[in-house]
Amino acid sequence: MSATLPPSDGPLHAWRAGLLWFPDPGVPQARHESDGLLVTRRDADGVVRIADVGAFAEVAERWPGVPVTHWPHLCIAPGFVDLHVHYPQTDVIASPAEGLLPWLEHYTFPHEKQFADPVHARETADFFLDELLRNGVTTALCFATAHPESVDAFMQAAQARQLRMVAGKVLQDRHSPDGLRDADTRLSLRQTEDLIRRWHGVERLGYAITPRFAPTSSSEQLHGAGEIAAQFPDVWIQSHLAENLDEIRWVHELFPQARSYLDVYDRAGLLRERAVYAHCIHLEDADRRRMAETGSVAAVSPTSNLFLGSGFFDYAAADRTGLRYGLASDVGGGTSFSPLHTMHAAYTVARQNVGRPGLSLAPGHLWWQHTAGGAQALGLAGTVGNLLPGCEADFIALDPRATPLLARRTAQAETLAEWLFALIVLGDDRLIAHTVVQGQSNLVQNARPQNATIGA
Ligand SMILES: [Zn+2]
Repeated sequence: MSATLPPSDGPLHAWRAGLLWFPDPGVPQARHESDGLLVTRRDADGVVRIADVGAFAEVAERWPGVPVTHWPHLCIAPGFVDLHVHYPQTDVIASPAEGLLPWLEHYTFPHEKQFADPVHARETADFFLDELLRNGVTTALCFATAHPESVDAFMQAAQARQLRMVAGKVLQDRHSPDGLRDADTRLSLRQTEDLIRRWHGVERLGYAITPRFAPTSSSEQLHGAGEIAAQFPDVWIQSHLAENLDEIRWVHELFPQARSYLDVYDRAGLLRERAVYAHCIHLEDADRRRMAETGSVAAVSPTSNLFLGSGFFDYAAADRTGLRYGLASDVGGGTSFSPLHTMHAAYTVARQNVGRPGLSLAPGHLWWQHTAGGAQALGLAGTVGNLLPGCEADFIALDPRATPLLARRTAQAETLAEWLFALIVLGDDRLIAHTVVQGQSNLVQNARPQNATIGA
């Protein structure tokens, strides 16, 4: 061990491989090191964080004697952050429907009813989290169902895996079937408060106040949610916004006094930092600016939007109005757990000429939206989604030779952008060789580490 280490330092470990990270977390500019070293340390609070990162030749000499795992052909990158996903819809993925509202009625609501059963909820949460890890996702902002048991099951499953996860009980007290509808609005709000006290800030878990979307909550429930938000300023808020034109017409009928769909949430006190709204497709600039002004962010869900035919997120409008965003799978409306597929779909969505010119998002920018940018949108910059010192040690190892075509194409890449783009377009869960959470490799799929010690 180095003599310069402060006395509170716990066990150290180092990882030698290629490295990909964002030196300035606010800027979507990736840095790549072909032979890098990542050093992790368990801090006094029990959390494993990154202690050092950079070129092997530079970093290794600062950490003599530290045990090192060597992955010569792999590239370590931050664990992905999924800004919007529904764990109870794991079994709804790949269900065909005529758009959002029929899809909810025919598939989603019947499946979600089953989550009153804690055994079913826990089994699904276990499968869901393992599937996230297989795909390299280490943090997610997640919907449960209207049943408080569904939150307990998810949090227990996340705790067992030492994950940083955020989730909440869905609030829906109208226009929902029996078995899923909050029969008592005041009880639903009390359950929300109880769950916040039970889970928010426990280890790495966080709670999100979760109105499903404006049409399924009464004004009383939305305002009650806003009051709870005011009482707990560091919990998250998550919902859906402006996904589909039929949905927007419905919101205007239900809330005629509101200036816009967004205004319904605004009047209820549900716009602020840590408020994450999925979709945000059919918005006016005034709404985008209002979101930016309040610190609310968009969870862009391109595979879901393409699948349900909902529309195309407008990146240029978001950038010109200062609306922040990150990427999301939105499973089960989304068609894949893989962040690679989501990034590919985001590129496709941005390219379309649909009442605005298409643009080509840079590969580093796509990657940033699912890592450091997503973490920033979630209010967790410097905590997850990057490899900078101080970040929690949740990361993945990519195998650019995972398939014959990936190996062939990446070998010909002349720039980092070309290499990343090949991973995004051709990659899937096979690209993720390891997912490491808190220094523990939760997955060994197709690569074996070589263990050694620095200096040995
Ligand atoms: Zn959703």
